[in-house]
Amino acid sequence: MKILTDLHTHTSDGTTHAYSTLLENIAYAKTIGLEAIAMTNHGPNVHDSPSPWHFNAMHIIPPYIDGIHIIKGIEANVFGRHGKLDVPPVRYGVNSIELVIAAVHDGAWEPKNNKDFLEVYKNLANNLQVHIIGHIDRTPYFSSENLDVLLPIFNENNKVLEINGFSFNVCAQDNCRTLIQKAKEYNSKVSVNSDAHFALGIGDFDNIINYMEEINFNFENVINRDYKTLKEYFNF
Ligand SMILES: [Zn+2]
Ligand SMILES: [Zn+2]
Repeated sequence: MKILTDLHTHTSDGTTHAYSTLLENIAYAKTIGLEAIAMTNHGPNVHDSPSPWHFNAMHIIPPYIDGIHIIKGIEANVFGRHGKLDVPPVRYGVNSIELVIAAVHDGAWEPKNNKDFLEVYKNLANNLQVHIIGHIDRTPYFSSENLDVLLPIFNENNKVLEINGFSFNVCAQDNCRTLIQKAKEYNSKVSVNSDAHFALGIGDFDNIINYMEEINFNFENVINRDYKTLKEYFNF
């Protein structure tokens, strides 16, 4: 199995902890045969993120550069259990943001107990702005039991679960495996993304794909497996 798009990548715009430009990301994506990447920098309301204008101006970037489709997105931060996001308001009547990944980050807000965890993700499930629930496996109070509650709700609300490369390979290995197992059990739609902060990390899905193959995950549920499927799913 090959996955031909990567919907979670960062660029070095602003004072970010990412080290490649969009053009460098595109060039690398091309060398490894991807069809599309999404640029999803951190929402503006945390330290080390681009300004709101970065997100407002993304419409100036062409949708297709050197053989790669470019999706303009944001990795929005969650503030509080009501699920408030730092997606900048539309400016000049042009909405630049095509894809919203909602993610809990410790620099913004984190749940203080299990009740917060369930409440915030139920609220995100009901938020029409949100396309993808980002790296839930890194949020405090993540558990298999909580996924039993939430995954049916995500399914009802057409939310896609992210299977995140940085979680799988580095910082939440056991949780990410649990997430993949539960996504299989609940037949959830997923998006397999790198979360690359450097061009050479884009499309680095090998370990995740190996694990998914090992447990016979249904790849029909990977909505970003190719650009055609992705475009149809999100109606870009
Ligand atoms: Zn993140
Ligand atoms: Zn990220």
